[in-house]
Amino acid sequence: MGKTATFLGLGAMGYPMACNLSNAGFEVKVWNRTTSRAEEHSAACGSETASLDETAASEVIFSCLPTSREVAELAKELLPHLEAGTIWVDCTSGDPAASRQIAAELAKAGVEFLDAPVSGGTDGAAAATLTIMVGGSKEAFAKVKPHLEAMGEKIIHVGPVGSGHALKAINNTLFAVNLWAAGEGLAALVKQGVDPRVALEVINASTGRSNATENVIPQRVVTRAWPHTFKLGLLTKDVGIGMKVLDGADLPAPLLRLTYEVYQIAKREIDPDADHAEALKLIERWAGTEIA
Ligand code: NDP
Repeated sequence: MGKTATFLGLGAMGYPMACNLSNAGFEVKVWNRTTSRAEEHSAACGSETASLDETAASEVIFSCLPTSREVAELAKELLPHLEAGTIWVDCTSGDPAASRQIAAELAKAGVEFLDAPVSGGTDGAAAATLTIMVGGSKEAFAKVKPHLEAMGEKIIHVGPVGSGHALKAINNTLFAVNLWAAGEGLAALVKQGVDPRVALEVINASTGRSNATENVIPQRVVTRAWPHTFKLGLLTKDVGIGMKVLDGADLPAPLLRLTYEVYQIAKREIDPDADHAEALKLIERWAGTEIA
């Protein structure tokens, strides 16, 4: 593989990821539905803004879109123009079954598909420290590993097509459990007269700690900063994909299934476009107190 790539989708994640690819010395063509964002990227990161048609002749195509639905739509549109030998690397937090379907369609044109969702948030994307979990053939993985190394730190082949998306969905479901559970516990402690900063100091030196208690709640909830980096609607979508993974496993999983119900309620009551941490505003509403 040469040092070229195309990146489709310059959202909160795709924009910094494509920028790091460009900064690492790759010649990067970028396409975004809203063209002004691609033009801004080209000016800031040295990429080249391209029309969708112009992206088809690429050795490696990255996509980072909200869901597998948008990936499937773009793949369908590009399919007649794609060249055999191209590798399509989808960094969307997508759906395993949809990805297997997309992979089968692309294979008809000799294009290989890898699902390569990422973890680490917008900070990890900016710092090129993402964890990237890749499903698909080991040969294709080896070919695009240098590209992935420009965007992430821990890059792991996890199994066949769809397995990266399955792992990502379960990871985010676990995160959703931790975030909500910590919110309930902290709201109760505040009502007992405990300062949430003190509670977090103890929890984070004890066994109840998680990314939610170590990072998300102290930085976003206690401070009331509520930065918008990862939409509540996207986290709920990930937990929904987690439910499909459970469906295929034939085992009872009452806690994880309840978590999906909880986030659907939070998404409805708060706002799908709110930051994911704002789910805890629903707990605060129920408790009649702020976790602050
Ligand atoms: P954003 O909402 O910030 O960006 C979405 C991107 O998709 C934009 O480039 C948008 O284009 C484009 N898009 C939306 N709809 C369409 C469409 N119908 N056709 C073509 N392009 C479309 O999302 P994120 O970057 O936050 O998330 C992208 C993926 O990464 C999601 O699957 C998410 O779950 C995952 N993720 C997000 C993390 C985060 O912290 N934000 C962390 C890890 C994974 P336009 O500019 O025109 O709106």
